[in-house]
Amino acid sequence: MTNLESAHATPMDACSTANELYEKCLGLAGNLWWSWNGDVAGIFRDLDPVRWRALNHNPIALLQEFTPQRLAERANEMVLYNKINHAFRQLKSYIANRHTWAANHGGVLGSRPVAYFSAEFGIHESLPIYSGGLGVLSGDHIKSASALGVPLVAVGLFYTQGYFRQHLDDSGMQVEEYVETDIRYLPVRPATNREGEPITVSIETRNGNLMAKVWKMMVGRVPLYLLDSNVEGNSPEDRQLTSRLYGGDERTRIRQELVLGIGGVAALHELGIQPGVYHLNEGHSAFGPLQAIYQRMQETGLPFDETVRQVASETVFTTHTPVPAGHDRFSAELIQEHLGPMADKLGLNHEQLMSLGRIAPNNSNESFCMTVIGLKLSRTANAVSQLHGHVSRRMWSELWPWRVEEEIPIGHITNGVHTDSWMADPMKALCDRYFPTNWHEKHGEPDTWQHIYDADPGELWETHNALKTMLVNFMRHRLASQIERRQGTPTQIERAKRMFDPQTLTIGFARRFATYKRANLIFSDLDRLADIMNNTRRPVQIMFAGKAHPKDEPGKEFIREIAQLQNDPRFADKVVFLENYDVNVCRHMVQGVDIWLNNPRRPLEASGTSGQKVVLNGGLNLSILDGWWNEAFNGVNGFAIGNGSIHASNEIMDRRDAESLYEVLEQQVVPLFYDRDVDNLPRHWVERMMNSISTLAWRFSSHRMVMDYTNLCYVPAAGGLSSNMPKH
Ligand SMILES: *Cc1c(COP(=O)(O)O)cnc(C)c1O
Repeated sequence: MTNLESAHATPMDACSTANELYEKCLGLAGNLWWSWNGDVAGIFRDLDPVRWRALNHNPIALLQEFTPQRLAERANEMVLYNKINHAFRQLKSYIANRHTWAANHGGVLGSRPVAYFSAEFGIHESLPIYSGGLGVLSGDHIKSASALGVPLVAVGLFYTQGYFRQHLDDSGMQVEEYVETDIRYLPVRPATNREGEPITVSIETRNGNLMAKVWKMMVGRVPLYLLDSNVEGNSPEDRQLTSRLYGGDERTRIRQELVLGIGGVAALHELGIQPGVYHLNEGHSAFGPLQAIYQRMQETGLPFDETVRQVASETVFTTHTPVPAGHDRFSAELIQEHLGPMADKLGLNHEQLMSLGRIAPNNSNESFCMTVIGLKLSRTANAVSQLHGHVSRRMWSELWPWRVEEEIPIGHITNGVHTDSWMADPMKALCDRYFPTNWHEKHGEPDTWQHIYDADPGELWETHNALKTMLVNFMRHRLASQIERRQGTPTQIERAKRMFDPQTLTIGFARRFATYKRANLIFSDLDRLADIMNNTRRPVQIMFAGKAHPKDEPGKEFIREIAQLQNDPRFADKVVFLENYDVNVCRHMVQGVDIWLNNPRRPLEASGTSGQKVVLNGGLNLSILDGWWNEAFNGVNGFAIGNGSIHASNEIMDRRDAESLYEVLEQQVVPLFYDRDVDNLPRHWVERMMNSISTLAWRFSSHRMVMDYTNLCYVPAAGGLSSNMPKH
């Protein structure tokens, strides 16, 4: 790293100063810390706003387009010298700071960190290693672990193509495109062992070894290790294995999970890292404990059963899926092929191995379920919201047939979001004016957010409106290029650039287009919706985004329906579908909408986190009482659709929920939004914004979530104690 002090030293020759400045910029780009610090991202943007956007906000790719001399000139022009030096010093002091929350609360974790496994990490749009909610949750988890100083290392897979890019064709059909990212533009370097040598792990299967190399990326204080099967010695097919998320078939999937779980634990061993706790975020990594058990048996010479007990007491398992079909299952053949050698090493026969993944151990008709092995090889297990806890205890009760449902050992820790990543800079600036100075370290504490009531309502409203205008501009720009790409007419492009009115009540809906999320529920009665939206005094406009899984035909059909409504004169210019939902599109939407609509079929949404991002920016949630909203809504901090009742018939449930949705829009949302005082300020609406921020921002912050994981899971597991996680 560059010497900080020399930046202040007097006359140096221009060339070495330029080189030094360039090095500092590379240093900033090399730690993802920049991605949640607006001032630092602002430096990169100011270097070249047009290229910054074109390069999908990738600072390394941007810097490659500059020579040190050109960078120095540009920094002079834009007065960036001090900003760069300041940011660089801040990063250093952030990394060095030892006075963190975990210094007081992370006790026993000390030298034996938590190893956090996840199949995806959503950290920033420029890193293609996530697809959606699970990934963003993992990203937010490690960002908060970094802020709180929780000793944690993360393990994932290195996808160079990631999830697909989405376009719509003229008919509104989703087109998927995979793009290879150049490794030189990613902030990774080969992970090395204590001798400084790059490491490779090798996983035995019945038909040869599967190898992976390991990359390292820094997310604040947290190292993220990514396994990559693109190495010499692997078959051409295996070299592609980790290039895409959730592609391929069952075989691709089990091999990816082998690399993540078994390869991941082996990689930590090679790196000389001895985890005190294993946290398996969803079942994808649940083969990992087998490798940990094997390593422990080698070290201690203890038998399998005793070692299982030890490793399980150090293992935390988080389940995310309330849909039975959403849990990975593998056939006996696939398991035998891929885990046969591991079973041999552990001294297990095939049936014993299979029984680890079965609810009924001896039922030879049962396939091998990753959630079952996750639950069996961990002593602490949790769901991701209170309601999801109930659903999960019921769903897995057969694993503990002698227990009543409330005593099934699956608790819950509700998901949260990383405030600094999702709150817009103007909102942060507003909070800076009214909150205690150290509030960035206290996102997870209720007192912090009470200060929102100190803010001037007009100021909060203006801030929100500025964000909404930014969203509308973003949308117009994206829409215009979407139309351009489809070879639309100049008139169509001009129209796109005037679409939407920033004064109008704006609803956002963006998520994965799985059918249970019912993206088209609001279109159940088009005439009634047209009446709501086209009221000239109280108009409404809606913005959609979201990808359907490439194999989910009904999900794609939903997208097509919505895209085609843009041609219906009643909805033209008022309904918009934005392509390629990703962290960038999400950030703009959650920061700018008035209302965030969420209408899944209860209780199929495990938690949901996008609505939590909206809270931070002054938007209000309008949601079914499912996932996090079921425990968040208090009558005055947003709006509820329905009363939480469910029905065995989807048709009846959908009809009922649609009716309630229209009613709430007509009777509550629209009137409240357009109820203005003499200054055109919607006082009661702003009051609700403040209620939302003060009651929800801290509870659904990933700082609170990581503090809960630390107190309720990590510290007990590292000390060999059971957790007493809430079950009700
Ligand atoms: C936050 C986020 C999600 C998760 O949102 P849900 O509310 O769970 O649907 C999905 N995708 C992206 C890109 C996100 O940023």
